[in-house]
Amino acid sequence: LSVAELVEHSIKRISDTDDKIGAFLTLNEEGARKDAQALDARLASEGERGLLFGIPTGIKDNIVTEGLRTTCGSKFLENHDPIYDAAVVTKLRAAQSVTMGKLNMDEFAMGGSNENSAYRVVRNPWDLERVPGGSSGGSAASVAAGQVYFALGSDTGGSIRQPAAYCGVVGLKPTYGLVSRYGLVAFASSLDQIGPITKNVEDSAYVLQAIAGHDERDTTSANVEIPDYVSALTGEVKGLRIGVPKEYLGQGIDPQVKERVLEALKVFESMGAVWEEVSLPHTEYAVATYYLLASSEASSNLARFDGVRYGVRADNPANLIDLYRRSRSEGFGAEVKRRIMLGTYALSSGYYDAYYKKAQQVRTLIKQDFDQVFEKFDLIIGPTAPTAAFKLGEQVGDPLTMYLNDICTIPVSLAGVPAISVPCGMADGLPVGLQIIGKPFDERTVLRAAHAFE
Ligand code: GLN
Repeated sequence: LSVAELVEHSIKRISDTDDKIGAFLTLNEEGARKDAQALDARLASEGERGLLFGIPTGIKDNIVTEGLRTTCGSKFLENHDPIYDAAVVTKLRAAQSVTMGKLNMDEFAMGGSNENSAYRVVRNPWDLERVPGGSSGGSAASVAAGQVYFALGSDTGGSIRQPAAYCGVVGLKPTYGLVSRYGLVAFASSLDQIGPITKNVEDSAYVLQAIAGHDERDTTSANVEIPDYVSALTGEVKGLRIGVPKEYLGQGIDPQVKERVLEALKVFESMGAVWEEVSLPHTEYAVATYYLLASSEASSNLARFDGVRYGVRADNPANLIDLYRRSRSEGFGAEVKRRIMLGTYALSSGYYDAYYKKAQQVRTLIKQDFDQVFEKFDLIIGPTAPTAAFKLGEQVGDPLTMYLNDICTIPVSLAGVPAISVPCGMADGLPVGLQIIGKPFDERTVLRAAHAFE
């Protein structure tokens, strides 16, 4: 099989399905064909293969790609062609995968259903009347629909794991700092991480291998040795100690989701792992803490979209302030404005101590909850999301309910630890995700357990 054939297959699959699914914002058809040709030629001459040689892939549209339109799901960047590649894109190029295009998402990664995309809805391939989750909804739906073999997503409070759960695929959020954020359009810099969305755990290990690693251009990039992730997949979980937070199986969790998680724990038990109920007592404050901190950081990060440097610029402005105001009013959607206003309020003088500082203190308590459990346990396991995919439109008018979908993923993001979502059966014909959470930089154990279970 040549790379060209593989790429043609992907192009055909995209053209057959994407009218319905809506995963792609920009297709890189000609670029992908050119890359395929070059890879086939190289194979013929040198016979040398990168780790992801010839694999058609999709990239979430908040990861910049040189000369390939990058919109962040926003009208603000409708015509934005970046002048450089993100670190992960450079790494994928080195691993010789083929970029098929840019994937739909909630505007600036703010959302949990992909309904905040300024362009089009993404439909869940399992049921076209349902959301694919978000904000990496395009990435998860594209992999689930077989358009690409893997995709990159980004996760700030659940945006890789939750859509992976809703679409029945595998989504890994690495430890904060493991993967460079250079070239990821910043939403909440202290939380944002890029990670793989794949069909299975082995693929996840391969893609992580290709994209992890220290990068001087990202000041929060961790300078750690990158282990071999693929060799961690031994199938062995005997003696592994698993903590199951009672807060993740309590109120608000769909009974069928809970049932699937308990069944999964039985599988682990049968393979020789042991589990016990534990407590992460500050879980109830996590969603409020996250929305305060993430919005504060977003209000600062999005200040760069001023109508001067990037994207939309209002016509005939009366003066500079008018240019800022109108460009931002026209360019941003409702949810982005809501977050900017919330964050600006929380950071304004006189409120800072009451809100931002307080939230940072609670974040520390949440992180300590995890530290304490990890003194005795190797992994923490629970559901990825409280329910399976909900119907399109169902939660649009109700941001608070929408925010609660991330109750199980947000604490993990605040703690900065790694977690994977793997499919664990169905609820009423829709996939359910199992979340496996690990110690900082212990992706090997997370992947090992996920692989043994899958
Ligand atoms: N749904 C969450 C939010 O709206 C998480 C988004 C994300 O992880 N990017 O902020």
